[in-house]
Amino acid sequence: MTSHEAAGATDAAVAADTGTVWFVGAGPGDPELITLKGQKLLAQAGAVLFAGSLVDRAATAFAPAGCDIRDSKDMTLEAMTDWLVTRARQHRTVVRLQTGDPSLYGALIEMARPLDAAGVPWRVVPGVSSAMASMAAAGESMTLPEVTQTVILTRVEGRTPMPEGEDLAALAAHRSTICIFLSITLLHKVEAALRQAGWPEDAPMLVVHKASWPGEEQIIRGTLADIKQRCRDAGVVSQSMIVASPTLGSRDWETLARSKLYDPTFTHRFRKAHA
Ligand code: SAH
Repeated sequence: MTSHEAAGATDAAVAADTGTVWFVGAGPGDPELITLKGQKLLAQAGAVLFAGSLVDRAATAFAPAGCDIRDSKDMTLEAMTDWLVTRARQHRTVVRLQTGDPSLYGALIEMARPLDAAGVPWRVVPGVSSAMASMAAAGESMTLPEVTQTVILTRVEGRTPMPEGEDLAALAAHRSTICIFLSITLLHKVEAALRQAGWPEDAPMLVVHKASWPGEEQIIRGTLADIKQRCRDAGVVSQSMIVASPTLGSRDWETLARSKLYDPTFTHRFRKAHA
């Protein structure tokens, strides 16, 4: 990508004399976890609309002096899209900064469709999701050979209803790694669903509060039986990722199946097996 393109000067944008709105993943909280591309776009942005307290540090750290910076926490969807459309007619580069990755629970499509309707081009820059940052914080792996090769990213039902067939008990029947967003105040529902799916009381669980936030991250380990009490004891009631996974704690297991990729008896494209 050339710097010309990074500035949002796509052919369509030039023709319509409209800037581009970039939906940029800010990462999970640590400003250093934004991508280089996201940081570059912020540095040349004429306007930045950021999503609440989780990402203001990145916005203020990387946007240029004089940039029109606005917190969206008190805005409706219509107010946000109006703001973005208006700014895109004034600036070449407009950034909508979102926590983690914009494609996860970020109202991306709801915001983008009015931009399409207004003829404003938009693009997405991915970000480090809090699911990844939480596993990184705890030194855990989403996948493990012969344990699970599947990750489910989900939430439990709050005010947003779950589509049919996606209730946590049904998903938990897979015994895979499950990262549960937006649900720390509904931990009782998470527990009930895992029990319904037959997870044992000593199944390991992980809750990470403010993953990657310097000085504020909290890592709470427990089991299905005690994770709720442990969170209560730690005072964790918001901004947390819940992880249920048969891989948790595997660094301390006595035996582990080897990953074929690094197995000396396994040949692949980049390495021949040793006898
Ligand atoms: N797009 C974001 C998710 C937004 S939904 C992403 O990819 O991470 C908001 C939920 O994400 C929160 O309720 C919480 O479950 C989770 N979350 C966001 N930032 C977090 C962080 N730093 N640590 C733990 N969980 C976080």
